[in-house]
Amino acid sequence: MGRDPTSFLKEEYKELVDNDLDWRIRVLQGASSARCMVDGRSVIMLCSNNYLSLSNHPKMKAAAVRAVGTHGAGSGSVRPIAGTMDLHVELERRLARFKHAEASLVYQTGFAANAGLIPQLVGKGDLIISDELNHGSIIDGVRLSYADRAVYKHCDMADLERVLLEAERHTPVYRRLLVITDGVFSMDGDIAPLDQIASLTERHGAMLYVDDAHGEGVLGDGGRGIVSHFHLDRSKVHVEMGTFSKDFGVVGGHVSGSQDLVNFAYNRSRTWLLSGSHPPAVVAACTAAIDVLESEPQHVRNLWERTKEFRGAMARSGFDTGRSETPIIPIMMGESATAKRFSQRLFEEGVFALPIVFPMVSKGKARIRTIMNATLTKEDLELAIAKFEMIGKELDLI
Ligand SMILES: *Cc1c(COP(=O)(O)O)cnc(C)c1O
Repeated sequence: MGRDPTSFLKEEYKELVDNDLDWRIRVLQGASSARCMVDGRSVIMLCSNNYLSLSNHPKMKAAAVRAVGTHGAGSGSVRPIAGTMDLHVELERRLARFKHAEASLVYQTGFAANAGLIPQLVGKGDLIISDELNHGSIIDGVRLSYADRAVYKHCDMADLERVLLEAERHTPVYRRLLVITDGVFSMDGDIAPLDQIASLTERHGAMLYVDDAHGEGVLGDGGRGIVSHFHLDRSKVHVEMGTFSKDFGVVGGHVSGSQDLVNFAYNRSRTWLLSGSHPPAVVAACTAAIDVLESEPQHVRNLWERTKEFRGAMARSGFDTGRSETPIIPIMMGESATAKRFSQRLFEEGVFALPIVFPMVSKGKARIRTIMNATLTKEDLELAIAKFEMIGKELDLI
């Protein structure tokens, strides 16, 4: 009898549990909103990406239900064969208009967009230059490419320039350079200096790719994202990538840019070509989300009000909110054990916010990551602030 070839499954899982590194999944009982039921408890939600609670917006739910009636439950195919419906085409047209871009392309997820497009833009003989804190889906997209890789220090423009200058001296001469950055960094809530990055990429003849998953629906005119936030000339940002799974409250990835980019992307991205397309309800809800952003600007305003109030209160209480400039507000805890204890206590007190610990952030930088929501009531926000203060004192953090 040979050894069980799957014995590592149990062993490695046990190792994760023993080191307190496994995910213990909490379950939502009902819709995702600023106040919801999680594991049998009514909690104030402070860790969802559903910034505007659009997932629950009546116009979006109605659009999804309508699309099931007219177009069915599934799309029947991958996009290039028979899975492109009029609904998909309409969503891409509306998204391009919203982004003031020439064209947009929708993928199944943001992960699929990064994993599908990055390895097609650059290959052998090229160089990808990436911020050290970029999202894991960018890192995996980069790994799928045959291009050389360089990393620059987080948002450090002198270091980015150093890498670009070194790249210019490389022999043999690189065919293409691609600089890629998150727009808003998901662990710290800081904003990439995209204006300065764009000047550098322009000067050095590099392509610029921004992943604006946490900036869309948050930054810029009416939530149009980071390119709008910096009033950048669209032609300087070659790929503006994003997702419908966060602020837009549904699911789906997308890229916007020139018509040439979109033509290239859909003919080459393997995730787009080889994996089924969105079902009608998803597509219709995404289009409705754009409608809502265009016609109800109060949601983004409310989000920023809550953000200023919470971040201000945390600072006044003596908490460290790190580099946060957006509705992502980390509350720094230091040790992993403290962050985990804090999160557990918050949950017991009716506030849901998760600890972010090593290896997701470096050792000693453990935090509770909070994400603001436009539909938090004043009372709930004040209650959450009071609970943070109470537990902060209990654990000797403030
Ligand atoms: C969430 C996220 C993604 C992945 O988006 P999905 O549509 O959920 O797959 C990609 N990039 C960044 C920066 C993200 O925060």
